[in-house]
Amino acid sequence: MSGSPPALEVRAVHKRFGELHALRGVDLTVEAGEFFALLGPNGAGKSTLINIVAGLARATLGSARVMGHDVVRDYRAARRALGVVPQELVFDPFFTVRETLEIQSGYFGLRDNHAWIDALLDGLGLADKADTNMRKLSGGMKRRVLVAQALVHKPPVIILDEPTAGVDVELRQSLWQFIQMLNREGHTVLLTTHYLEEAEALCNRIAMLKQGRIIALDTKQNLLSRFTEKYASFTLREGR
Ligand code: ADP
Ligand code: MG
Repeated sequence: MSGSPPALEVRAVHKRFGELHALRGVDLTVEAGEFFALLGPNGAGKSTLINIVAGLARATLGSARVMGHDVVRDYRAARRALGVVPQELVFDPFFTVRETLEIQSGYFGLRDNHAWIDALLDGLGLADKADTNMRKLSGGMKRRVLVAQALVHKPPVIILDEPTAGVDVELRQSLWQFIQMLNREGHTVLLTTHYLEEAEALCNRIAMLKQGRIIALDTKQNLLSRFTEKYASFTLREGR
């Protein structure tokens, strides 16, 4: 065997919703250990791509792998390698925070996960909310629980779908710090966002998705210098 497989491999993925061609041949490789941003406006296809990688939706054409496991043929192994923080705040309102994390642990067959759950609650500032019902939490707190839930089985790869959209500045900062720490510890991170500043602050490489196509993919430095050049020539022309 030569080396480890990429953390994520997306090959020629198309997705159609009836007439709508939401993904139009997406290729993407995220290497193990990277902190990668998928940047794009609303409706670009970011969540659709995440759902395909997470095995929650089928590609119309093409394939996706997580740590070398095909998300359709080898779903369980691919799912186990992945933690996904969904864009929508989906949760069961009747359980407490701790119960929510224990149920998720059970889903992965982890029966004695209490120490790790405590560490997640601490790390995400949720320790004093452990016995609170999910429905009583603020939006920001629910977002934190979703992050903890994604990490309950210590997946090597973490995908966060617009984790800071609609989140206040303070939580945004603390979430960023937490995710950066995970990346330093060796987790691969894919973050989707429509904030350039967020991609810029956090990630090594950035792919820009627009109308279902990747229109640019490069290191942060190269992408930003290209932007700056474009902007400089634009303002020069405007200034004349
Ligand atoms: P993003 O996450 O970048 O905002 P989405 O992946 O949510 O974009 O959506 C991409 C396009 O696909 C949009 O035009 C959206 O309306 C459409 N779309 C997403 N999910 C569905 C679905 N389940 N059925 C029909 N159209 C969908
Ligand atoms: Mg989305």
